[in-house]
Amino acid sequence: MKLNKLVSNSFRNFARFTVRRNLSSTAASGVEKVRADCVVIGAGVVGIAVARELCLKLRRNVLVIESGSTFGSGTSSRSSQVIHGGIYYPPNSLKACFCVRGRRLLYDYCQEHGIPHKQTGKLIVATRNEEVPKLNHLLSRGIENGVEGLKMLDASEAMAMEPQLQCIGALWSPTSGIIDSHSLMLSQLGEAESHGTTFCYNNTVVGAHLEGNQIYLHISETESLQNRDHNSQWHPDILLLPKVVVNSAGLSSAALARRFSGINPRAIPPSYYARGCYFSLLNTKVPPFKHLIYPVPEDGGLGVHVTLDLDGQVKFGPDVEWLHHIDDISSIQNMFDYTVSADRAKKFYPEIRKYYPLLKDDSLQPGYAGIRPKLAGPGEGFADFIIQGEESHGIPGLVNLFGIESPGLTSSMAIAEHVATKLSRF
Ligand SMILES: Cc1cc2nc3c(=O)[nH]c(=O)nc-3n(C[C@H](O)[C@H](O)[C@H](O)COP(=O)(O)OP(=O)(O)OC[C@H]3O[C@@H](n4cnc5c(N)ncnc54)[C@H](O)[C@@H]3O)c2cc1C
Repeated sequence: MKLNKLVSNSFRNFARFTVRRNLSSTAASGVEKVRADCVVIGAGVVGIAVARELCLKLRRNVLVIESGSTFGSGTSSRSSQVIHGGIYYPPNSLKACFCVRGRRLLYDYCQEHGIPHKQTGKLIVATRNEEVPKLNHLLSRGIENGVEGLKMLDASEAMAMEPQLQCIGALWSPTSGIIDSHSLMLSQLGEAESHGTTFCYNNTVVGAHLEGNQIYLHISETESLQNRDHNSQWHPDILLLPKVVVNSAGLSSAALARRFSGINPRAIPPSYYARGCYFSLLNTKVPPFKHLIYPVPEDGGLGVHVTLDLDGQVKFGPDVEWLHHIDDISSIQNMFDYTVSADRAKKFYPEIRKYYPLLKDDSLQPGYAGIRPKLAGPGEGFADFIIQGEESHGIPGLVNLFGIESPGLTSSMAIAEHVATKLSRF
């Protein structure tokens, strides 16, 4: 359904008007304007959780604008679907706090709503002597972050749990697990819809401008943007005038914020992108592992690990491949390459055999890929989630979510709580 038709059906009480003067953006002059209450940009696992929180807890009227033809078609359908414990992140970071809180909220939600999930537990394994201090460091960090039940295991204890595993020691995390993230999104989307939220697909937010304190969101039908010359101006089909905007556009949230005129440009972090590919294990009647198995983390990711899905299928990944030369327009148009080249398997075999030496030749086949929205480039170390309000960027009623990479799925409900608290005064 066209956005203006949808909006008029859902927001009958909001005024619609067209004004041809006093527009600070020439691209937007003469375009129909529609007032709205809350707009969430992006229907990924985080945008859906935020929309649900805003309508259920704050009783707001929410419109979710999604450029794709359905929900969860971005990073949220390309993850490992692991519920993380909260071990890896520096104490008091948003990643640490939201992962631990989000995990507890997520398990409770899964139980209450019948979302398929399993608390499998996870082993983080050291395969060389020099990795043992890293495991000890992860243990103390995890304890400081409030992760329950962590325990160091010696090689024989770990290998008794997983006979095909080879390691010299392991950190056991019993609260880690797996979830069917599509069912989670579907359930939360249904709740949001039954509390008045409208999801509007095939529409892209292409920019915004300010008049006084009022945000004008520029929206175009996604189809009309295809094959557009990068240098041509994007003319919106409609302007939305919301009281509150949550920019939860995943990979393109920073690229999009750079197109908001009136925002403090220094508040917007640079965008980096790192692709992660998965390979699945061929011809396995009995999966070799019952638990999640992770090596010690590497720069940019958590290492090529073993993930199980709820049917017991095993996959390995994701690796880290930094992507270069992605400009803001390509990012907003979602022109990402998700191809998994069979050649990458060459690098997977030696990585996996460090902890699974029985991996047979030619047993890996290309799976899928996801792309991490990174806020730090190669070798730059840890970067936290950024959840940014007026105090940073200067626009009342706007919250930007930047760098929501892993553990974004685990953290989604805690992020939603935080965003709702930030917006409760608007
Ligand atoms: C390889 C990989 C593995 C991961 N594994 C895990 C894991 O095991 N556990 C975990 O907790 N986390 C994991 N994560 C992280 C987790 O998947 C993400 O943090 C989470 O899915 C992000 O959700 P999101 O809603 O912010 O973004 P997205 O899912 O990307 O949603 C953003 C949405 O915004 C839409 N959009 C973009 N631009 C616009 C626009 N201009 N206008 C309208 N709509 C727009 C997109 O189409 C998209 O649907 C992983 C991530 C990757 C890449």
